[in-house]
Amino acid sequence: MDELPNWASPEIDWRQPSVARIYDYALGGAHNFEADRQAQDEALKVFPYLNDAARANRGFLHRAVRFCLDQGIRQFLDLGSGVPTVGNVHEVAQEVDPESHVVYVDHDLVAVAHARTILANNPRAVVLHEDIRAPHQILTHPETLQLIDFEQPVAVLMVGMLHYVDDSAEPMKLLREYQDCMTPGSYLIASHLTSDLPEMRSAAPFFDDSRNPMTLRSKTEIEALLADYELVDPGVVFTVQWRPETPPPANPERSACYAAVARRG
Ligand code: SAM
Repeated sequence: MDELPNWASPEIDWRQPSVARIYDYALGGAHNFEADRQAQDEALKVFPYLNDAARANRGFLHRAVRFCLDQGIRQFLDLGSGVPTVGNVHEVAQEVDPESHVVYVDHDLVAVAHARTILANNPRAVVLHEDIRAPHQILTHPETLQLIDFEQPVAVLMVGMLHYVDDSAEPMKLLREYQDCMTPGSYLIASHLTSDLPEMRSAAPFFDDSRNPMTLRSKTEIEALLADYELVDPGVVFTVQWRPETPPPANPERSACYAAVARRG
């Protein structure tokens, strides 16, 4: 049994796996507990490329943020931002332009507490402890409005996130609510674990007892979710295939996750 380390607040339910901490474990981080590690280790037995898939997802996030910076975007709303790890959005963005503004949102206490520590001396980045299924709370939050001017283009990130929005939470409606706040020229950066891969379908049930069971979707379903946006080339592809900087691996489907950057026209 784990003892709560000094960075963990007593409200954290460390007995129930949390995807923020599972993902941290997959990326080699230290902000996770035994329950998180067990869930991931079981899933790895049926899908041994799951940790590579997490790294590939992170690589996509970095390339997509840099793409948006190249398009002139200087404000980012990162929904389901996770436990901070190497190459956080504010690090990538503020390296290009120190004036870039970033609002992180997560409902996981470990992710939020760790982000608060990292951002303590950064006046241009903040983290909100909110549920992304309540867009109004996030979009009208005083700290959001302090950093994001919705009259200007913004990049909204839902990276490794939408598969935690089940059909009862109406993902299409949710995307529209965020889209309504995005001025033309804004971008959506999204990635989504897919049901097209049999190994992923076998691995997903290992996370059913976590705080965030997965709703895997097919490529067609993911494309349908993004139908209101103009897809940037190359469209919806596996994360490793989205504008790779080095030749993508021979088995792109092992990244298990489709990715897209889409423009609000
Ligand atoms: N976006 C980061 C990335 O791609 O590297 C982290 C992805 S991690 C797999 C998914 C994150 O979404 C977790 O930190 C989890 O806590 C968060 N999350 C899941 N459902 C959420 C919700 N309804 N509201 C806020 N955060 C949520």
